Amino acid sequence: MIIRSPLPDVDIPKVDILTHLFPDDKPVSDTPVWIDAADPQKHLSPRQLLLWVKRLALGLDRLGVKHGDIVMLYSPNNIFVPVAYLGIVGSSRAFSAANPIYTVSEVTHQLKNTGAVCILAHPSMVKSAAEAAKAAGLSKERIFQFDDKPCPPMDGIRDWREMIASPEEAESYQWKRLRGEEAVKTVATINYSSGTTGLPKGVCVSHHNLIANVEQTIAIRWPDGGPSNERWVGFLPLYHAYGQLYVNLIATKCNVPCYVMKQFVYGDFLQHIQDFKITNLQVAPPILVMLAKRPETANYDLSSLKGMLCGAAPLSKELQNLVSQRFNVEIKQGWGMTEVTCGSILQRAASDNGTVGELIPNTDCKLLDDDGNEVGYDTPGEIFIRAPNVCLGYFKNEAATKEAISPDGWLKTGDVAIVNKEGLFWIVDRKKELIKVNALQVAPAELEAVLLQHDDVADAAAVGITLNDEEWPRAYVALKDHARGKVTEQQIQQWMKGKVAKHKQLVGGIQFVDEVPKLASGKIQRKVMREWAKRDAVI
Ligand code: ATP
Ligand code: MG
Repeated sequence: MIIRSPLPDVDIPKVDILTHLFPDDKPVSDTPVWIDAADPQKHLSPRQLLLWVKRLALGLDRLGVKHGDIVMLYSPNNIFVPVAYLGIVGSSRAFSAANPIYTVSEVTHQLKNTGAVCILAHPSMVKSAAEAAKAAGLSKERIFQFDDKPCPPMDGIRDWREMIASPEEAESYQWKRLRGEEAVKTVATINYSSGTTGLPKGVCVSHHNLIANVEQTIAIRWPDGGPSNERWVGFLPLYHAYGQLYVNLIATKCNVPCYVMKQFVYGDFLQHIQDFKITNLQVAPPILVMLAKRPETANYDLSSLKGMLCGAAPLSKELQNLVSQRFNVEIKQGWGMTEVTCGSILQRAASDNGTVGELIPNTDCKLLDDDGNEVGYDTPGEIFIRAPNVCLGYFKNEAATKEAISPDGWLKTGDVAIVNKEGLFWIVDRKKELIKVNALQVAPAELEAVLLQHDDVADAAAVGITLNDEEWPRAYVALKDHARGKVTEQQIQQWMKGKVAKHKQLVGGIQFVDEVPKLASGKIQRKVMREWAKRDAVI
């Protein structure tokens, strides 16, 4: 059974992303779009951005960076990150950002893997960038300091503003226009997946993929043509697909003011919502947990908020309803992955809370069981997606690409879902994380949801542990402060007996931990859990 998006197809022009965002026949806005949340006097309008983009593009031309070369950004968010992104992508180079918390060896890995020929590095990361460049054999001359203000040279490393062209020279710059198949095949970004299951993989996304996901998302979220009268906080990291789609692309296309945060501090975030009368947010589940649980939330007036989109990790219906009612906002959930540019399934109606919603336009989906047979309604199966936002593949990894994308364009996602007759999806689990107990499948997400219902449990994660050649569910549980040292494993085991079937019991044991290892997006770091389980199995 192939499931089609319930929405009519949208037009996805085969052009380059810059031409799409700045069409020749549309005036470029002078109103600020990227505003420094900590210092709102600092801002950029689309017109200013476009000039900076051209200056950077011309600067890269003169530096000898060729079309198709990869340029790396290694910086936290600031209002110039969209300039770097669009300057690199818009001039037919590929943009690849390193996570600012990466260590030297992690940056070296990404630098070597991508073969990036130039790095824009925040002053606080210049040292690491230089070490990584040395290890990767990249000349120091190709590293530039990158910040929202000019920086004095450091160890001979210049400021990026010294490399770019002057405004006068850049004004008439013509970027390389892509048409037809060129737009479909040219790599725009190489983002790295979160690495929650293994080593992060470089995902090649084309200009056409970007334009597709911008248009598909606008069509399902804003049927009137785009967000109007909205104000956002730009706190999602701009090295990741989620932040990029909204702050770099949709904000540019629709002139949505974004108050950019350099780093996420919860109190500042609340203050910005109050001060700038923020109307809408793109978030991940941990933000909703903070809104629900942190006492300081009550000190701020958040009444300007109207809506939120929550994606990146599982969100329970209870939390969704709770935050939605308390703040009188509509919270819609979405599902996506780096391999679909950003998102493929989005919730439209508040009455569908608890689901991730429906397929975005231009999207086909099928759910397959373990034997590769298509399943029908209300039966779990692995999600396969065929759509114009499905990436080109993994960077320099043909084997992984072949495994993930079939010759006829189906992306194997690794996520397991159920769809009902109305076309609404529930994410049930991730396939490679399922625990096999005597050939029966146990979903860690289910065990985690049950454990979280226990009054003394603050957080929990389940994983398979191999004991005597057999796999069993094991849980790592963080107790609430008041329960630490008091509640025992036996008590929780006893409680679980009444909650889940025999094969789902935590035969592999429960280990109490201070904290469940999670990324800021709310994703459980399964590879850490698996290492714990391996260690515990030996003991
Ligand atoms: P890696 O593939 O490197 O292990 P990752 O899959 O965590 O990392 P991302 O591309 O950032 O990297 O995340 C995509 C994944 O996030 C999806 O495959 C899915 O498992 C999860 N996800 C996203 N949105 C949701 C959601 N609404 N509910 C449940 N899971 C979600
Ligand atoms: Mg993944």
